[in-house]
Amino acid sequence: MKCDKCNMALKAISVKMLGETFKAKECPACRSRIVNLDIAMKLHDKIVPKLKCEKRIIKIGDSSAITIPKGIRHFFLPGSVVTLDFDPQEMAMTIRKE
Ligand SMILES: [Zn+2]
Repeated sequence: MKCDKCNMALKAISVKMLGETFKAKECPACRSRIVNLDIAMKLHDKIVPKLKCEKRIIKIGDSSAITIPKGIRHFFLPGSVVTLDFDPQEMAMTIRKE
């Protein structure tokens, strides 16, 4: 198998990421890596976990707030801008990062 960018032969490597060790192929020139689809899906699920949890609303000064769960907080770092969409009929609020 050859690299799409460099046309160099890919080398089999072992990669340790997110607590998993898996086989991949790497281009010796541009360091692009290829993994099979099953491994990619497994890593995707670890990186982007689906989340549904119960949170208690807390008071910060005159405001009400919730904290961002640990598993997804890297998507919502302090200073990030989000859009809140409140549906009063469903009593549901969606937080969307653009
Ligand atoms: Zn390459």
